[in-house]
Amino acid sequence: METKTIDRIVEILAGSKNNVVVTGAGISTEAGIPDFRGEKGIYRTLGEDRVMSILNISFFKKNPHAFYEFYRKYFIFPAVEPGLAHRVLADMEKRGYIKAIVTQNIDNLHQRAGSKRVIPVHGTADRYICTGVGCYASYDDEYVRRSSEVVPTCAVCGGILKPDVVLFGEPIQNHRYARETILGAKVLVVIGSSLTVFPLAGFVEEFSRSAKDLIIINKGKTGMDHAATIKLDTDQTGAALEEINRRLISR
Ligand code: NAD
Repeated sequence: METKTIDRIVEILAGSKNNVVVTGAGISTEAGIPDFRGEKGIYRTLGEDRVMSILNISFFKKNPHAFYEFYRKYFIFPAVEPGLAHRVLADMEKRGYIKAIVTQNIDNLHQRAGSKRVIPVHGTADRYICTGVGCYASYDDEYVRRSSEVVPTCAVCGGILKPDVVLFGEPIQNHRYARETILGAKVLVVIGSSLTVFPLAGFVEEFSRSAKDLIIINKGKTGMDHAATIKLDTDQTGAALEEINRRLISR
Protein backbone atom coordinates (compact mmCIF):
# COMPACT_ATOMS: atom_id res chain seq x y z
CA MET A 1 0.00 0.00 0.00
CA GLU A 2 1.30 3.48 -0.84
CA THR A 3 1.86 4.89 2.66
CA LYS A 4 2.37 8.50 1.57
CA THR A 5 -0.85 8.51 -0.45
CA ILE A 6 -2.77 7.02 2.48
CA ASP A 7 -1.22 9.62 4.84
CA ARG A 8 -2.37 12.43 2.59
CA ILE A 9 -5.91 11.00 2.28
CA VAL A 10 -6.17 10.69 6.08
CA GLU A 11 -4.97 14.26 6.51
CA ILE A 12 -7.56 15.61 4.06
CA LEU A 13 -10.45 13.62 5.57
CA ALA A 14 -9.48 14.58 9.13
CA GLY A 15 -9.59 18.26 8.19
CA SER A 16 -13.24 18.19 7.11
CA LYS A 17 -16.61 17.37 8.67
CA ASN A 18 -18.34 17.13 5.30
CA ASN A 19 -16.86 14.18 3.44
CA VAL A 20 -19.09 12.62 0.79
CA VAL A 21 -18.33 9.33 -0.96
CA VAL A 22 -19.31 8.34 -4.50
CA THR A 23 -19.15 4.62 -5.26
CA GLY A 24 -19.28 2.56 -8.44
CA ALA A 25 -19.19 -1.11 -9.32
CA GLY A 26 -15.50 -1.38 -8.32
CA ILE A 27 -16.35 -1.24 -4.61
CA SER A 28 -18.34 -4.48 -4.92
CA THR A 29 -15.89 -6.61 -6.95
CA GLU A 30 -14.07 -7.77 -3.79
CA ALA A 31 -17.46 -8.88 -2.45
CA GLY A 32 -17.93 -11.07 -5.55
CA ILE A 33 -20.00 -8.95 -7.98
CA PRO A 34 -18.14 -8.28 -11.24
CA ASP A 35 -18.04 -4.75 -12.66
CA PHE A 36 -18.87 -3.91 -16.30
CA ARG A 37 -15.78 -2.00 -17.37
CA GLY A 38 -13.06 -3.88 -15.50
CA GLU A 39 -10.88 -6.58 -17.11
CA LYS A 40 -13.49 -9.34 -16.92
CA GLY A 41 -16.53 -7.06 -17.09
CA ILE A 42 -19.29 -7.72 -19.61
CA TYR A 43 -18.54 -4.54 -21.56
CA ARG A 44 -15.28 -6.26 -22.54
CA THR A 45 -16.65 -9.79 -23.00
CA LEU A 46 -19.96 -8.96 -24.72
CA GLY A 47 -19.30 -5.47 -26.10
CA GLU A 48 -20.57 -2.19 -24.69
CA ASP A 49 -22.92 -1.42 -27.61
CA ARG A 50 -24.68 -4.77 -27.31
CA VAL A 51 -25.18 -4.42 -23.56
CA MET A 52 -26.41 -0.83 -23.91
CA SER A 53 -28.90 -1.73 -26.62
CA ILE A 54 -30.45 -4.55 -24.58
CA LEU A 55 -30.42 -2.87 -21.17
CA ASN A 56 -32.52 -0.18 -22.68
CA ILE A 57 -36.04 0.93 -21.77
CA SER A 58 -37.28 0.82 -25.39
CA PHE A 59 -35.86 -2.69 -25.88
CA PHE A 60 -37.51 -3.79 -22.61
CA LYS A 61 -40.89 -2.46 -23.80
CA LYS A 62 -40.59 -3.93 -27.31
CA ASN A 63 -39.12 -7.30 -26.43
CA PRO A 64 -39.43 -8.21 -22.74
CA HIS A 65 -38.72 -11.89 -23.48
CA ALA A 66 -35.29 -11.21 -25.04
CA PHE A 67 -34.61 -8.61 -22.36
CA TYR A 68 -35.23 -11.11 -19.55
CA GLU A 69 -33.25 -13.90 -21.23
CA PHE A 70 -30.25 -11.58 -21.18
CA TYR A 71 -31.01 -10.04 -17.79
CA ARG A 72 -31.44 -13.38 -16.05
CA LYS A 73 -28.14 -14.63 -17.46
CA TYR A 74 -25.95 -11.63 -16.63
CA PHE A 75 -27.70 -9.37 -14.15
CA ILE A 76 -29.27 -11.38 -11.43
CA PHE A 77 -26.34 -11.01 -9.05
CA PRO A 78 -24.95 -13.90 -7.04
CA ALA A 79 -26.10 -13.87 -3.41
CA VAL A 80 -23.13 -12.17 -1.72
CA GLU A 81 -22.49 -10.44 1.58
CA PRO A 82 -21.20 -6.86 1.90
CA GLY A 83 -17.40 -6.80 1.62
CA LEU A 84 -14.80 -5.20 3.87
CA ALA A 85 -15.01 -1.91 1.93
CA HIS A 86 -18.79 -1.66 2.51
CA ARG A 87 -18.41 -2.49 6.20
CA VAL A 88 -15.60 0.04 6.75
CA LEU A 89 -17.59 2.81 5.05
CA ALA A 90 -20.55 2.06 7.35
CA ASP A 91 -18.21 2.33 10.36
CA MET A 92 -16.72 5.59 9.06
CA GLU A 93 -20.22 7.07 8.80
CA LYS A 94 -20.99 6.01 12.37
CA ARG A 95 -17.81 7.73 13.57
CA GLY A 96 -18.67 10.93 11.70
CA TYR A 97 -15.92 10.70 9.07
CA ILE A 98 -18.42 10.33 6.23
CA LYS A 99 -21.64 12.25 5.73
CA ALA A 100 -23.27 10.35 2.86
CA ILE A 101 -22.68 7.84 0.07
CA VAL A 102 -23.98 8.48 -3.44
CA THR A 103 -23.86 5.19 -5.30
CA GLN A 104 -24.29 3.99 -8.86
CA ASN A 105 -24.55 0.45 -7.58
CA ILE A 106 -27.76 -1.51 -7.58
CA ASP A 107 -26.61 -4.29 -5.24
CA ASN A 108 -27.87 -2.79 -1.96
CA LEU A 109 -24.59 -3.75 -0.25
CA HIS A 110 -23.98 -0.35 1.39
CA GLN A 111 -27.41 -0.46 3.01
CA ARG A 112 -26.93 -4.08 4.10
CA ALA A 113 -23.53 -3.19 5.61
CA GLY A 114 -25.27 -0.60 7.81
CA SER A 115 -24.67 2.70 6.00
CA LYS A 116 -27.62 4.98 6.82
CA ARG A 117 -27.37 7.87 4.37
CA VAL A 118 -27.11 6.14 1.01
CA ILE A 119 -28.35 7.85 -2.15
CA PRO A 120 -28.74 5.28 -4.94
CA VAL A 121 -29.04 6.80 -8.40
CA HIS A 122 -29.47 3.64 -10.49
CA GLY A 123 -32.13 1.93 -8.36
CA THR A 124 -31.99 -1.51 -6.79
CA ALA A 125 -31.73 -4.95 -8.36
CA ASP A 126 -33.50 -6.51 -5.35
CA ARG A 127 -36.87 -5.11 -6.33
CA TYR A 128 -39.23 -5.50 -9.32
CA ILE A 129 -42.12 -3.17 -10.07
CA CYS A 130 -45.34 -4.04 -11.93
CA THR A 131 -45.71 -2.07 -15.17
CA GLY A 132 -49.51 -2.64 -15.28
CA VAL A 133 -51.44 0.65 -15.49
CA GLY A 134 -52.50 1.78 -12.00
CA CYS A 135 -50.91 -1.27 -10.35
CA TYR A 136 -48.05 -0.38 -8.04
CA ALA A 137 -47.27 -3.87 -6.74
CA SER A 138 -43.61 -4.64 -6.12
CA TYR A 139 -41.81 -7.93 -5.64
CA ASP A 140 -38.44 -9.10 -4.33
CA ASP A 141 -35.86 -10.88 -6.47
CA GLU A 142 -36.73 -14.23 -4.89
CA TYR A 143 -40.18 -14.02 -6.54
CA VAL A 144 -38.52 -13.47 -9.93
CA ARG A 145 -35.94 -16.22 -9.43
CA ARG A 146 -38.74 -18.67 -8.58
CA SER A 147 -40.99 -17.66 -11.47
CA SER A 148 -41.30 -20.50 -14.00
CA GLU A 149 -41.80 -18.03 -16.90
CA VAL A 150 -38.85 -16.14 -18.41
CA VAL A 151 -40.81 -12.87 -18.16
CA PRO A 152 -42.04 -12.49 -14.57
CA THR A 153 -45.59 -11.21 -14.16
CA CYS A 154 -47.61 -9.59 -11.40
CA ALA A 155 -49.67 -11.91 -9.16
CA VAL A 156 -52.28 -9.14 -8.81
CA CYS A 157 -52.91 -7.89 -12.36
CA GLY A 158 -50.79 -10.09 -14.66
CA GLY A 159 -48.68 -7.09 -15.81
CA ILE A 160 -45.01 -7.51 -16.73
CA LEU A 161 -42.52 -6.80 -13.94
CA LYS A 162 -39.60 -4.45 -14.54
CA PRO A 163 -36.42 -4.54 -12.47
CA ASP A 164 -36.33 -1.38 -10.31
CA VAL A 165 -33.05 -0.39 -11.93
CA VAL A 166 -32.43 2.56 -14.21
CA LEU A 167 -32.16 1.31 -17.78
CA PHE A 168 -30.48 3.24 -20.58
CA GLY A 169 -32.97 5.84 -21.79
CA GLU A 170 -34.45 6.37 -18.30
CA PRO A 171 -33.68 9.29 -15.97
CA ILE A 172 -31.58 8.53 -12.90
CA GLN A 173 -33.22 8.42 -9.47
CA ASN A 174 -32.55 11.05 -6.75
CA HIS A 175 -31.02 13.37 -9.37
CA ARG A 176 -31.33 16.59 -7.36
CA TYR A 177 -30.50 15.07 -3.97
CA ALA A 178 -27.38 13.35 -5.38
CA ARG A 179 -26.15 16.48 -7.15
CA GLU A 180 -26.73 18.75 -4.15
CA THR A 181 -25.02 16.30 -1.79
CA ILE A 182 -21.97 16.06 -4.06
CA LEU A 183 -21.70 19.79 -4.76
CA GLY A 184 -22.27 20.59 -1.06
CA ALA A 185 -19.41 18.37 0.09
CA LYS A 186 -16.14 19.82 1.33
CA VAL A 187 -14.23 16.69 0.33
CA LEU A 188 -15.39 14.19 -2.28
CA VAL A 189 -14.04 10.63 -2.31
CA VAL A 190 -14.74 8.55 -5.42
CA ILE A 191 -14.27 4.79 -4.94
CA GLY A 192 -14.41 2.08 -7.62
CA SER A 193 -15.82 4.11 -10.47
CA SER A 194 -14.39 4.80 -13.90
CA LEU A 195 -16.33 8.11 -13.80
CA THR A 196 -17.59 7.63 -17.31
CA VAL A 197 -21.25 7.02 -16.49
CA PHE A 198 -23.36 10.20 -16.73
CA PRO A 199 -24.90 12.19 -15.19
CA LEU A 200 -23.07 11.19 -11.98
CA ALA A 201 -19.64 11.68 -13.59
CA GLY A 202 -20.89 15.17 -14.55
CA PHE A 203 -21.67 15.99 -10.89
CA VAL A 204 -18.12 14.99 -9.95
CA GLU A 205 -16.80 17.12 -12.80
CA GLU A 206 -18.85 20.09 -11.52
CA PHE A 207 -17.48 19.52 -8.00
CA SER A 208 -13.93 19.44 -9.32
CA ARG A 209 -14.28 22.97 -10.73
CA SER A 210 -14.21 24.26 -7.13
CA ALA A 211 -11.01 24.51 -5.12
CA LYS A 212 -12.18 21.61 -2.90
CA ASP A 213 -10.40 18.28 -2.53
CA LEU A 214 -11.26 15.36 -4.79
CA ILE A 215 -9.85 11.97 -3.74
CA ILE A 216 -10.04 9.03 -6.15
CA ILE A 217 -9.52 5.40 -5.11
CA ASN A 218 -9.81 3.17 -8.17
CA LYS A 219 -8.10 0.37 -10.03
CA GLY A 220 -7.00 1.90 -13.30
CA LYS A 221 -7.79 5.16 -15.05
CA THR A 222 -10.88 7.28 -14.42
CA GLY A 223 -12.32 10.16 -16.40
CA MET A 224 -11.34 12.63 -13.66
CA ASP A 225 -7.78 11.63 -12.69
CA HIS A 226 -6.48 14.94 -13.99
CA ALA A 227 -8.64 16.85 -11.48
CA ALA A 228 -7.90 14.73 -8.41
CA THR A 229 -6.02 16.18 -5.45
CA ILE A 230 -4.86 12.64 -4.81
CA LYS A 231 -5.36 9.29 -6.54
CA LEU A 232 -4.85 5.85 -5.00
CA ASP A 233 -4.67 3.19 -7.72
CA THR A 234 -5.52 -0.11 -6.05
CA ASP A 235 -7.84 -3.08 -6.22
CA GLN A 236 -7.33 -3.72 -2.49
CA THR A 237 -10.00 -1.20 -1.68
CA GLY A 238 -11.25 -2.89 1.48
CA ALA A 239 -7.74 -3.01 2.98
CA ALA A 240 -7.01 0.58 1.94
CA LEU A 241 -10.21 1.88 3.56
CA GLU A 242 -9.55 -0.17 6.69
CA GLU A 243 -6.11 1.45 6.99
CA ILE A 244 -7.53 4.94 6.40
CA ASN A 245 -10.21 4.38 9.06
CA ARG A 246 -7.68 2.94 11.53
CA ARG A 247 -5.47 6.00 11.15
CA LEU A 248 -8.38 8.40 11.49
CA ILE A 249 -9.44 6.68 14.71
CA SER A 250 -5.95 6.80 16.19
CA ARG A 251 -5.36 10.49 15.48
P1 NAD B 1 -17.85 1.94 -13.09
O1 NAD B 1 -17.81 2.98 -14.09
O2 NAD B 1 -18.22 2.36 -11.75
O3 NAD B 1 -16.36 1.22 -13.19
C1 NAD B 1 -15.83 0.33 -12.24
C2 NAD B 1 -14.37 0.74 -11.95
O4 NAD B 1 -13.94 0.07 -10.77
C3 NAD B 1 -13.37 0.35 -13.07
O5 NAD B 1 -12.55 1.47 -13.37
C4 NAD B 1 -12.54 -0.78 -12.43
O6 NAD B 1 -11.20 -0.80 -12.89
C5 NAD B 1 -12.61 -0.40 -10.97
N1 NAD B 1 -12.43 -1.51 -10.02
C6 NAD B 1 -12.76 -2.81 -10.17
N2 NAD B 1 -12.47 -3.52 -9.06
C7 NAD B 1 -11.95 -2.62 -8.17
C8 NAD B 1 -11.47 -2.73 -6.82
N3 NAD B 1 -11.49 -3.87 -6.15
N4 NAD B 1 -11.04 -1.60 -6.22
C9 NAD B 1 -11.01 -0.41 -6.89
N5 NAD B 1 -11.43 -0.26 -8.15
C10 NAD B 1 -11.91 -1.35 -8.79
O7 NAD B 1 -18.84 0.85 -13.20
P2 NAD B 1 -19.12 -0.10 -14.41
O8 NAD B 1 -18.49 -1.38 -14.05
O9 NAD B 1 -18.72 0.57 -15.67
O10 NAD B 1 -20.70 -0.22 -14.34
C11 NAD B 1 -21.55 0.78 -14.87
C12 NAD B 1 -22.87 0.78 -14.17
O11 NAD B 1 -23.43 -0.53 -14.16
C13 NAD B 1 -22.78 1.15 -12.71
O12 NAD B 1 -22.83 2.50 -12.58
C14 NAD B 1 -23.97 0.39 -12.11
O13 NAD B 1 -25.16 1.09 -12.28
C15 NAD B 1 -24.04 -0.85 -12.91
N6 NAD B 1 -23.36 -1.96 -12.23
C16 NAD B 1 -23.59 -2.15 -10.90
C17 NAD B 1 -22.98 -3.18 -10.23
C18 NAD B 1 -23.26 -3.35 -8.75
O14 NAD B 1 -24.30 -2.88 -8.29
N7 NAD B 1 -22.37 -4.00 -7.99
C19 NAD B 1 -22.10 -4.02 -10.91
C20 NAD B 1 -21.89 -3.81 -12.28
C21 NAD B 1 -22.52 -2.75 -12.92
